[in-house]
Amino acid sequence: MKILVINCGSSSLKYQLFDMADESVLAKGLVERIGIDGSRLKHTRTGQEAVLVEQPIPDHKVAVSLVLKALLDKQHGAIKSLDELGAVGHRVVHAGEKFSCSVRLDDAVMAALKECIPLAPLHNPANIIGIEAISASLPNVPQVGVFDTAFHQTMPDYAYMYAVPYGYYKDAKVRRYGFHGTSHLFVSHRAAEILGKPIQDLKIVTCHLGNGSSVTAVKNGKSVDTSMGFTPVAGLVMGTRCGDVDPSVVTYIAAKEGAEKADKILNKESGLQGISGKSSDMRDIEEGMKAGDARCTLAYNMLCYGIRKYIGAYAAAMGGIDVLVFTAGIGENSPEVRASVAEGLEFLGIKVDAAKNDFRGKERIISPEGAPVTVMVVPTNEELVIARDTLRIISGR
Ligand code: ADP
Repeated sequence: MKILVINCGSSSLKYQLFDMADESVLAKGLVERIGIDGSRLKHTRTGQEAVLVEQPIPDHKVAVSLVLKALLDKQHGAIKSLDELGAVGHRVVHAGEKFSCSVRLDDAVMAALKECIPLAPLHNPANIIGIEAISASLPNVPQVGVFDTAFHQTMPDYAYMYAVPYGYYKDAKVRRYGFHGTSHLFVSHRAAEILGKPIQDLKIVTCHLGNGSSVTAVKNGKSVDTSMGFTPVAGLVMGTRCGDVDPSVVTYIAAKEGAEKADKILNKESGLQGISGKSSDMRDIEEGMKAGDARCTLAYNMLCYGIRKYIGAYAAAMGGIDVLVFTAGIGENSPEVRASVAEGLEFLGIKVDAAKNDFRGKERIISPEGAPVTVMVVPTNEELVIARDTLRIISGR
């Protein structure tokens, strides 16, 4: 069966077409700048050069129709007829407390996702638009929602609650939700598979380090704590998000700048960007650090120190740690960050072998042979999880 995976942002749409017989990717692409000047589609059929379609793309409906056209294209496409599409799987950011696993999308689920819009005002509307655009073009194809928050629904209440008046939880749903769940789920399961051990027997800390970053404690296959919170702004220092701060910093900045501007400052102007004053991109930060830039060095050190603290905290939360996993852009590609994070964690049994760690972007164990904690790099593949879940659900498994 062929499954199309869609990840809709407010002005973008990423897609991958899988052949689930062997889980191969037949084609993939990205629609950018939807609704703004310079919109374009970049489509790649596996094994071919990418093709670029530059034209006005006023909304997600037009974007979906262009994607389907590209998939059907005689030269660059991957299917002959839309009937070949068995299902569409969507990444959906926020499902609140409503869904702890992926579900088939129907009217009731869509209504529930709309109720979650106040919890993810930037992400959920885009995800919903994407689902509706596919429904309009492919009314008879089943669709499945895979939620960033779902994997973390197993956290115990004492880990997900904030100590603010209880009514804010009961009535306004203020609590820790956690994000990147699909990635943490994928890499923790893959790590267990690589080790040849049942995930039920393992205590794993997964570090998803990208533009957005989060750390999760996965005990016996379940998320028991995670660093992102009510929104993805909590936890680690990120590209432009501030991560954990004293809540009074927020009210202090909001009193000075107004709530809306404060939100923008903490989400878009903070993190590596805010500290370095140079860039939100880790490659630039590392380059700046090597050139002796003090603020780049500070930003780098703050990120690595924060990751180290979370690893220690989650080892305590789980009563130990067997496996430490690095993934996503920084985790997969920065040997420097991996080494800096491990430095000083020897007391927990965490050690990185410099020679094994000297690579980018592959699946590999980087701890010394026989080390108490297996440290590994596992490239994430959220699209594949979405495709697998979509197949499982429409097959009634
Ligand atoms: P997103 O959260 O947008 O999916 P990614 O997982 O693609 O982000 O991660 C993007 C981050 O990965 C950026 O900070 C980028 O600088 C970093 N990154 C990518 N390649 C490297 C590299 N070779 N060395 C260090 N950092 C890298």
